[in-house]
Amino acid sequence: MSQALHLNDQGEHVRVHQGHLNDRLHAHGDPQIEVNGTCNAQTIERSALAAWFLGALDATIETVQDGTISPGVQAMIADPDSRDDAQRQRATARRGHSFTSANGSSSQFRIVPCDEWGALAPTARITRVGRPGKIIFHHTDGHHAELDHQPGDTLEEAIAFARAIQRDHMHRHPAYIDSGHNFLVTRSGHILEGRHGSLAAIKDGVMVQSAHCVGQNTHPGIEHEHVNPEGMTAIQREASLFLHAFICRHTGIDPNAIHGHGEFNATECPGALKPELAEFRQELARRLAH
Ligand SMILES: [Zn+2]
Repeated sequence: MSQALHLNDQGEHVRVHQGHLNDRLHAHGDPQIEVNGTCNAQTIERSALAAWFLGALDATIETVQDGTISPGVQAMIADPDSRDDAQRQRATARRGHSFTSANGSSSQFRIVPCDEWGALAPTARITRVGRPGKIIFHHTDGHHAELDHQPGDTLEEAIAFARAIQRDHMHRHPAYIDSGHNFLVTRSGHILEGRHGSLAAIKDGVMVQSAHCVGQNTHPGIEHEHVNPEGMTAIQREASLFLHAFICRHTGIDPNAIHGHGEFNATECPGALKPELAEFRQELARRLAH
């Protein structure tokens, strides 16, 4: 571990690093890389991600993204126990945040806050209600409007969907003061804040009063873009797991306390996603255990 690794280096040294890297990626709930003894672009990109969630300095991460994995970064990935206090503190501060790789694609997911998607202002004050104890799982029973007539949805379409749902909620009788739900996960894995203040509240370990499930509106409600009989898309499921884990880590909600809307109200919601919930809870528990 005394030598730096560079993009396109080959050999046993690279193979050993790739093995350690996979251990860290597994522990963090990220996909594995191929262990092939070649320091390819994927090895560089995933090493940068690991350095980020293990608490390396931003300048160090940039060096990795530029194609050099220093002995220090290799050591941190091989043995996280060797990290110093500053690295551990940075790692803790980065939990629940997303890392953006050099090519601009997000290796995790990002929660788009209301002020970035043009949400209308709420018509009354949003109130905080303390620490939540469960998460309510919903489906939209509808799809986003097709803006570009291409398969899949763009961020613009996800935003249009969030706006349409908010408009609908605020024009009901009686009207909601804002989006009823707290978060929306679209089929292409975009995550958008619903009711204003939800994201900030979760970061503080609490919730805001919402309007998605009668009797349970002091607990976060997550809408999933979905129409029967489809299942969740793979990226949507990953995004939802990321969001659920983010909420559970900040609030202490037990991963077993993820409930379908229909468990509380007379509704079919979340429709054909109901049978997926048991396995979803198990996967969430596995990820939270690391
Ligand atoms: Zn529902």
